Amino acid sequence: MQGSSKGPVFAIVGRPNVGKSTLFNRLTGSRRSIVGDEPGITRDRIYGEVRWNGHTARLVDTGGIVPDDEALIPSEIFRQARVALEEANAIVMVVDGRTELAAPDIDLARLLLKTGKPLFLAVNKIDTVALDATAENFRRIGIHNLVPISAEHGHNIGDLLDEVFAVLPFGNEEAEEEDTEPEEPAQEEEAAAEKPAVHRTHGEFEQHETRVAIIGRPNVGKSTLLNTLTGTTRAIVSPIAGTTRDAVDEVIEYQGRHLRIVDTAGIRRKGKTNLMAEKLSVVMARRHLEASDVALLVIDATEGVTASDATIGGYAHESGRSVVIVVNKWDLVTTGRTDGKPPADREIFEEQLRHSLKYLDYAPVIFISATEGRNIHRVLDAVVRVAAERRKRVTTGQMNRFLERVDFQRAGVPLAKKMRIFYMTQAAVAPPTFVLFTNRQVKLHFSFERFLENQVREAFGFEGSPIWFKVRARE
Ligand code: GDP
Ligand code: GDP
Repeated sequence: MQGSSKGPVFAIVGRPNVGKSTLFNRLTGSRRSIVGDEPGITRDRIYGEVRWNGHTARLVDTGGIVPDDEALIPSEIFRQARVALEEANAIVMVVDGRTELAAPDIDLARLLLKTGKPLFLAVNKIDTVALDATAENFRRIGIHNLVPISAEHGHNIGDLLDEVFAVLPFGNEEAEEEDTEPEEPAQEEEAAAEKPAVHRTHGEFEQHETRVAIIGRPNVGKSTLLNTLTGTTRAIVSPIAGTTRDAVDEVIEYQGRHLRIVDTAGIRRKGKTNLMAEKLSVVMARRHLEASDVALLVIDATEGVTASDATIGGYAHESGRSVVIVVNKWDLVTTGRTDGKPPADREIFEEQLRHSLKYLDYAPVIFISATEGRNIHRVLDAVVRVAAERRKRVTTGQMNRFLERVDFQRAGVPLAKKMRIFYMTQAAVAPPTFVLFTNRQVKLHFSFERFLENQVREAFGFEGSPIWFKVRARE
């Protein structure tokens, strides 16, 4: 069946052991049991069907037979590739992201580029986000559409399919063919492979816990907030010894997610003198930031933003962590103030806060009372939200469409600092990091970076997270 149905075809090519079969199985949801046996189709090609967004395409895996003899490998790959190329509408080249880029990869890429067919580079075995940066090393291969994936774990498969399906020539008759075929009884893993969108929309490691740091000056209410958080939610492990000798974490569950509040012993520790405590709070903030994904920066509403708050906020911004600003003790400044001042206005307070913490303009601000438990759920909602945003990934296709729309004339950059952007790609998540490929290596002009960041946020969000940009000149 698979070999015979009409519709566009895309091919998977690559060296042995890079994960072609694993990817094939992941995409088709089937074990490699389907051998193309029609006339004219050589036995070493394996076909499968891939359904995505209401369309069906055929996938050909060219890696069916590969001799063990190392010496034969390059020519064998080329032979397979050529056969597949003839009929493919698009090609996905797979490389092993855990190995060095090798000469045969470059030769193969050169051959594939010559075909002029839409070409995608799947850098496989990128099982953790920490490896995202290494995927960037494969840019040198010269294929612009690069997607880091983990075929084994199903990460970013949806992104890859988005990009490939965007270029495949589908006829109108292709849509809505969902129910035409009896499905194989799907195993859980295979069912997951059919709906890779899950991985895309929520960030690929959502099953992981979110590590939350509570940072701020002494007496702003950090330990009170911690008590309220653990008291109003289900504390599932309490407490666990951390890796550091005196660090203790507490894990709470909220909306089915695990939030690990890091180093709760450190949050409760009190300094001896005021000055000591103040200095210690800055040191602790840095340590807590290192261990976290999201920081709750607690500000005392009765004092407004102080210089130490700004220092701690600055560390948070530079650390690349996501930030939620929590204005605590709001109960003391609204109705029934004891200091004779008029009740505080939320908008005016936020305006002043934004002015003092300019660089944190992406961070949501939430007004709470930790002692009364007011708005605590908003804090938790914000943590869940920004944790997902920081792991969000923009595909190269989306990015290209975005760049076409941006009016760079409005960036207001001096002529001498101007450069041409060929394309831009998201190289990493947590924090979202974009690489600009340009005609020359220049440090981004401050106002240009600001402009670009605003445009990216307008288009894609990334609430709570800093956005990093890198420039790479194309030779
Ligand atoms: P092929 O020769 O290109 O078809 O490669 P296979 O699909 O047989 O995979 C080669 C090896 O890489 C196998 O041991 C797979 O389990 C492993 N592999 C495939 N994909 C991944 C992945 O995403 N991550 C890791 N860590 N290993 C993978
Ligand atoms: P930490 O040093 O940042 O951990 O601050 P604490 O949690 O020890 O709080 C310092 C003081 O502020 C304590 O007396 C708390 O009871 C009080 N406090 C904390 N949160 C609130 C709040 O939301 N409203 C009021 N009225 N008092 C608060």
